[in-house]
Parts: sequence; C-alpha cells; structure tokens
Amino acid sequence: MSNLKLSGVRKSYGSVEVIKGVDLEIKSKEFVVFVGPSGCGKSTLLRMIAGLENISAGDLEIGGKRMNDVDPSKRGIAMVFQSYALYPHMSVRENMGFALRFAGESKDKIASQVAEAARILALEPLMDRLPKELSGGQRQRVAIGRAIVRNPEVFLFDEPLSNLDAELRVHMRIEIARLHKELKTTMVYVTHDQVEAMTLADTIVVLRDGVIEQVGKPLDLYDDPANQFVAGFIGSPQMNFMAGTVTASGNSTVTFELTNQGKALVTLALSGPGPAVGDSVTLGVRPEHFGLQGAGGAEMKVNIDVVEHLGATSYVYANTKSGEQIIIERAQSRHEDDIESLTVSIDTAKAYLFDGKGQRIR
Ligand code: ADP
Ligand code: MG
Repeated sequence: MSNLKLSGVRKSYGSVEVIKGVDLEIKSKEFVVFVGPSGCGKSTLLRMIAGLENISAGDLEIGGKRMNDVDPSKRGIAMVFQSYALYPHMSVRENMGFALRFAGESKDKIASQVAEAARILALEPLMDRLPKELSGGQRQRVAIGRAIVRNPEVFLFDEPLSNLDAELRVHMRIEIARLHKELKTTMVYVTHDQVEAMTLADTIVVLRDGVIEQVGKPLDLYDDPANQFVAGFIGSPQMNFMAGTVTASGNSTVTFELTNQGKALVTLALSGPGPAVGDSVTLGVRPEHFGLQGAGGAEMKVNIDVVEHLGATSYVYANTKSGEQIIIERAQSRHEDDIESLTVSIDTAKAYLFDGKGQRIR
C-alpha cells in the first residue's frame, strides 16, 4: 500500500514558518495535485514528503509507517524535478539505469527495468543518444524514465513541465495522465498552473501561504469553491468579482446593490441565513454565466473593450460603469466587434457570494 498521511505538518526556516499545519490523506493509487501561487509552499511540502527537507513538527506516514526520520532512499518514492539534470556524458540508456547500477542491481535486472520504462515512455529509438541530442520533451521523458525504473510506490513531480513550450506541455500532460493509468501508482504533482491541476488530478489540494484552502475533485472545486481565493484561482478565464453592499437580507434570500453599476440591485437565493444589511459582499460570476439581455436574472450594461474570437467561444473584455473589468464568455459568437456596449444578464442561480473576508455565503 502506498497511501500517504500528513498530520499537523509544519516547516519553519529559522523564525519564518512556511508550512503552517497541513492535514492531508492521499489514497493509494490516487493522482493528487498541489496547486497554488508561487511561494505558497508547494515544493517545500513535496520535498518534506521526499525527505529532502526535514519536518519541523507533525507526522508523515507512507503506507502506514511513520517516515519523518527515514532516509529518502528508503521511503519508496521517486521524484521528478523541473530541471531534468541528466548526466550529459551518458546515453539515455545509461542515464535511466544509473540509480539501479548505483544500488548494485544485476545487469539483467537493470536491462529489463530500463527496457520496460523505455517501452512505457516510447523512448526505444532514442536509447543510445546523449542528452544534447534530445529535445526538451524527450529529455523530460528520460527524467521520468529514471524515476520509473526504480519502481517506486509513490511518484513525486515538482513542476516537471514548466521548462517546456506550450505545445509540448499539453503533449506531456497527456503522457503523464497515460502513465498514471498504466502504472496505477500514487502520484503527487506540484504545479502553479491550474489547467494542469484540473486536467491531471483525481484530487486537487489548493494551497495559499502554507495553508490548505480546499481539497476536492477538480469540478467540485470549480462548481463549489469554499472561498473567494479558490473561486478566483480555479478556472480560466478567472471568475469575475463585483463589489456590493447588502440592502435587504432574509432567511433564504439576500439583496445587494452593485457598487459598479450605480446601485443596480441583485437578489440571490441562499440556503442559510443572509449577511446583515450594510455588510460588504462580493458577487462572483463565471464568464460563462452571463446571458444576453432578457435571459432573466439581474441585468447590467457594460462597455466593450476588446473581443477575442477563438472559434467555438469568444471572450468579451468589458468595463462596468465604475471601470471594473469583467470577462464575458459567448459561445459561437460572430458579433460584438462593432458594438460599443452590451447589456448582459447575470445567471443568479449560478452566481456566488462572498463575505468581507472572502468566505462563501451559501
Ligand atoms: P512554491 O514551490 O509554492 O513556489 P516554496 O515551497 O519553494 O514555494 O517556498 C515556500 C516559501 O518558503 C517561500 O516563501 C520561500 O521563500 C521559502 N523558502 C523555501 N526554501 C527556503 C529556504 N531554504 N530557506 C528559507 N526560506 C525558504
Ligand atoms: Mg516550487
């Protein structure tokens, strides 16, 4: 079994705490992605699992055994980094077999493990090349191959695709998803790219400033974010946020005026008690949850700034009366280039509401 359990895990560098108490369970064979802005502690947390950083407080278990003080080489893990760090004077075959040679494995065992990894990664035609004779994507595949040959219980990836160009990133993303399907091994993957997180993960862990903000399946985070940070981080283009002030509040509805619209009123249904009259709130609307005038829901007039037509969808970048920028997604649009303003309706059944501290009001 290769499940992981982190309990009250903390990390400090001197007096600065960078991981501030993380509790997390990762199931065996699960693909978990840590995502969050740069500097939030993703790499530190991964390196603590790997044993490359010591754990200041709390417990780490892998497969039911406490691992805090176990040597990295004995944790049953293999790690792939952003920089491939291949040995330049060794062929692909030698690079991939290096860790096994170092561990004193037999020639036959090394040859068969390397051949199996080469097959999985479609590296067979490249086995006798040197790293300098490979493209960036091929080098990263060799780096992954080096991890596979060790037959780990848990794979750890730290932004493995960040050095690749956009096209190759998409390609490698699909290869990593396929790899997980074939190997059925626990994988923990760090990225700052929410699209990578959405497309690869069984479970996403959103981190901010050393703290877990939310854990869930990709679409559950998208549909049901716990707070404004997760709502804004997951989804591209980003959710639109508009400031408002509560004017009426009941047990199952709230009405507020949108500051940016010269006090246009919006009413939302709630499942619990509403905030107090006079409270500041933030309305969140995803780009695809605007309709055209007359579609029902609260309406607002916006001035069009720029329109991007991507074919199946178009993004209308517009400004509200008070100058807040909002993005409206339109399916199959061939218009809006030659008009200056647009009245859109907010699908209030799909809108989100946040309190002054950014917590969801449901
Ligand atoms: P991420 O991978 O999410 O970008 P890191 O885990 O690399 O973030 O870093 C988290 C925080 O810890 C950052 O503020 C970083 O400056 C700090 N940090 C990382 N490594 C060290 C170190 N060796 N000494 C002091 N601070 C560090
Ligand atoms: Mg990092």
